[in-house]
Amino acid sequence: MAWFKRVEKGIVTPTEQKKETPDGLWHKCPECKTVISTAEHRQQLYTCAKCDFHDRINSHEYFEILFDENRFQELDENLSSSDPLNFVDTKPYPDRIVATQRKTNLKDAVRTAHGTINDLDLVVACMDFNFIGGSMGSVVGEKISRAIDYSRKHKIPFMMISKSGGARMMEAGYSLMQMAKTSAKLALLSEEKVPYISLLTDPTTGGVTASFAMLGDFNISEPGALIGFAGPRVIKETIGKDLPKGFQSAEFVLEHGFLDFIVHRKELKQRIADLITLLRPEETSAATETASNQAAVK
Ligand SMILES: [Zn+2]
Repeated sequence: MAWFKRVEKGIVTPTEQKKETPDGLWHKCPECKTVISTAEHRQQLYTCAKCDFHDRINSHEYFEILFDENRFQELDENLSSSDPLNFVDTKPYPDRIVATQRKTNLKDAVRTAHGTINDLDLVVACMDFNFIGGSMGSVVGEKISRAIDYSRKHKIPFMMISKSGGARMMEAGYSLMQMAKTSAKLALLSEEKVPYISLLTDPTTGGVTASFAMLGDFNISEPGALIGFAGPRVIKETIGKDLPKGFQSAEFVLEHGFLDFIVHRKELKQRIADLITLLRPEETSAATETASNQAAVK
């Protein structure tokens, strides 16, 4: 019986007759494997409705999520890296920069912008992981420093969205100097009592964790984000012990006191707006206090 017997072996459709599934129509959750349409995934702010897995997104999406009507003024958008060390690995560093810029449509691994969230002014610096692993080179450090200067000058709260593999190897020492530079700028911001909120997203590691990412007035994170300095394998080999379960996850880091809270992406905008209101400069809160005192007297 031909029905129960395979007459022809295997799949015989020639490649040219195969039908392509159009790209980008469906999204499969890497955690629970639920399949949803990309439109729905976008509506869920790139999180899984079933298991709450937070997909990695970049500055384009974060700006869209945070800024009112997706309106913002981008700062220093044309800053691009030079090649101070004449660095060559599998290809020369300038070639790598140009190729990555073409592929990602970005100038470097961070974008900075001024806009409003729920009508409150905010300067946001958001890293892009798809630009050489969100690595921190001199352009990243410079753009963040300039955004902090802008915040200081205009007395607007500053928010950093970190997402990085750490320092940029191709800039070696220059890359490491960005840690000191950005930290010093943040100290000046703090002296002027301008609030700084740091959001750590998946993954925040290396020099970024060791500098600006952990210096916020509030250090917050998205669920499940990897947060650490060195990778787990390096640590395991160094201390010669097995690492605890969930090591370097946002939840583990929160439990050990390095984070203030973890926020779901859908609540992010409101929570940031609440924090800015809470951290408003003294004049405004003093004015509110006087008003409430007067109300109390009456
Ligand atoms: Zn899921």
